[in-house]
Amino acid sequence: MIEMRSDTFTLPTPAMRRAMADAEVGDDVYGEDPTVNALEERTAALLGKERACLMPSGTMANLTSVLAHCPRGTKVLVGAETDIYLYEAHGAAVVGGVSYEPLPNLPDGRISLDALAAGFPEEEGDPQFAEVGLICLENTHNRCGGAVLPPGYAEEVRRFADERGVPVHLDGARLFNAAAAMGVSPAAVAGHADSVQFCLSKGLGAPIGSMVAGSEAFVARVRRLRKMLGGGMRQAGILAAAAMVALDTAGRLAEDHEHARLLAKGLADVPGVEVDPSAVQTNIVLFRVAGLAPPEVVRRCRDGGLSIGEFGHGRLRAVTHLGVTRPDVDTALDIIRTAIGRDR
Ligand SMILES: *Cc1c(COP(=O)(O)O)cnc(C)c1O
Repeated sequence: MIEMRSDTFTLPTPAMRRAMADAEVGDDVYGEDPTVNALEERTAALLGKERACLMPSGTMANLTSVLAHCPRGTKVLVGAETDIYLYEAHGAAVVGGVSYEPLPNLPDGRISLDALAAGFPEEEGDPQFAEVGLICLENTHNRCGGAVLPPGYAEEVRRFADERGVPVHLDGARLFNAAAAMGVSPAAVAGHADSVQFCLSKGLGAPIGSMVAGSEAFVARVRRLRKMLGGGMRQAGILAAAAMVALDTAGRLAEDHEHARLLAKGLADVPGVEVDPSAVQTNIVLFRVAGLAPPEVVRRCRDGGLSIGEFGHGRLRAVTHLGVTRPDVDTALDIIRTAIGRDR
């Protein structure tokens, strides 16, 4: 089976498994796991932030970040198509008494500054309204097809947020994909945000984990919230060791992007497929099949040996990652052609 449902299906490489087996470990809740400490220091430096903290998941990384920024009763301005709004069970509302205000995402993943401005009360301090505690961005933007936020946009949001005195959190689950696509450092992608999280467990290929980074005071709050939520892990160096290898090999993400472009170009030649290859910037390809319901396309592809996913709004999603080779891309195209061809 060629697995293209998500880059979360990446399996730890032999080098990761060796590093895990050999990892020097300690009790990380005591701050005494040397491999975790090394990973956190390396991450902070990579992202240009004071401190970083290992998390069990991206969901907990975002939740602790939102809670660390937002007092009870405040609201978070967040894109309506983002992971934080759609796929994280409104954790900050449940745990922290923080509400979410979903704002429209433009096709390229941005939230317009006008939409952000409309999230604030007309008169500052009007007691009828919840105060804005945080602005959240997502880069790359999953439901916008792995779009990279346009250069300059993060800066605009930074200026806007500074005028309003509100912090900015970046959900950079695929931050390294954004950096690879733009040809810039991870720190450049994270630069305009007060806090950032990225997933080790997606395209980077590690089995488990996310990293949160920000100021020293912010990460201290995140660390307490992580423990409160049950995310304090003991000999977590086993995971950090795999993460170190993942960071060593992050350069390979460009290959996934090339495979996604090839897949999209190939799909554009398949009769019945609607796809915009020029929209593919990273490792995610969104497409539609005219006249066939997405679940039927998924089922037929699966029968042919290719696993893809339904992705809302009548779309399908195929994701390239380290488990997908160049020949797999050609095979996937053959499978899709055959799966939908019999109706044409
Ligand atoms: C996957 C993902 C997350 C959540 O990460 P988990 O480790 O699955 O909890 C957050 N944001 C985005 C954009 C994601 O793609």
